[in-house]
Amino acid sequence: MKAAVVTVGDELLAGDTVNTNATWLCTQLTERGVTVERVTTLPDRVDDIARVVNEYHAEYDAVIVTGGLGPTHDDVTMDAVAAAFGRELEPHEEAATWLETNGGYSAADLVKGTTDLPAGARMLPNETGVAPGAVVGSVYVLPGVPDEMKTMFGRIADEFAGETNHVRFVHTSEPESSLIERFEALQSEFDVRVGSYPGDHVRVKLAATDESTVEAAVAWLEERVEPHEE
Ligand code: ATP
Ligand code: MG
Repeated sequence: MKAAVVTVGDELLAGDTVNTNATWLCTQLTERGVTVERVTTLPDRVDDIARVVNEYHAEYDAVIVTGGLGPTHDDVTMDAVAAAFGRELEPHEEAATWLETNGGYSAADLVKGTTDLPAGARMLPNETGVAPGAVVGSVYVLPGVPDEMKTMFGRIADEFAGETNHVRFVHTSEPESSLIERFEALQSEFDVRVGSYPGDHVRVKLAATDESTVEAAVAWLEERVEPHEE
């Protein structure tokens, strides 16, 4: 399963807010064996969001969009997702009922538009906030507030599945540039994916769907590189 993550918010692009939602979602999806192919951050602008959602919906098995829910003027994500599918936004009866029963909000308490979702959407209740999320086709729209987003993702997590990845790290004190040939040999010898992350030392990430393959690759590499001592 291949997925894209779209985070929406001017404040993310301005650097005012650290995009922890993107990292958190990528971790969750990867742990479930889903390959995340794109992470895109967009401004609070209907046409940009609609265009990207439309494109990613065609390209990937699932798209997760976070941020810009709710009824205030700068929250346009639901409008944009509706536009991407050529649908109208309309009051979602189940969303209103859920908020009344579980949140203690009567329709009159809610800011107008709070329960508007793209026509035909599946509603995702917001257990820690107010604005509901939605699923339209394979596009999942979640809130931007991290706690709300995480709780809501919990309700749909089972819908994201792929082959389990087994991941191991090898730490080496050698410079990354000197390791290239050994990485090539490693990849021709074993069916593993190799990533290298330089920092104060190089962390080599080995991943495979078969656990014994990744273990054998780790043993092979550990015999051939200088270990990094903590
Ligand atoms: P609300 O219904 O409360 O308006 P929302 O879904 O519209 O929520 P936003 O208005 O986009 O969400 O963002 C609300 C807050 O959530 C932001 O001020 C920010 O602190 C946090 N937030 C939004 N997006 C992210 C993100 N990608 N990573 C981390 N925090 C985020
Ligand atoms: Mg908002």
